[in-house]
Amino acid sequence: MKKNNIKIKHTKKQMKIVRNKFIPFAGYKAINLFGVLFVRNNAKLSEIDLNHEKIHTAQIKELWYVFFYLWYVIEWIIRLPKGNAYRNISFEREAYDNEKDLNYLKSRKRFDFAKYIKA
Ligand SMILES: [Zn+2]
Repeated sequence: MKKNNIKIKHTKKQMKIVRNKFIPFAGYKAINLFGVLFVRNNAKLSEIDLNHEKIHTAQIKELWYVFFYLWYVIEWIIRLPKGNAYRNISFEREAYDNEKDLNYLKSRKRFDFAKYIKA
């Protein structure tokens, strides 16, 4: 994407956002639980943060919700010994790599997170 040609248009569908002081734990901004975004009261959410979470929603839906969380936790555990486990989970790699492209979800194909699985 060209720097000067960033389109702010993105998927029309708005995320349901629940602001609260408990979820997620302090130090984290937001967590996507079954397509609903839980955000700490004081956290600021940018368009990029929202896009990141929308990418997760796409992953969550295509894995029928439960398989997303199962896979997420298993991949996190497998990656723990190597360090930086969270950032290397395939779902997070896809989301971080594409969060700045606000049109990413328009062209994303089903199961594209699989391209981000690495050994
Ligand atoms: Zn994420």
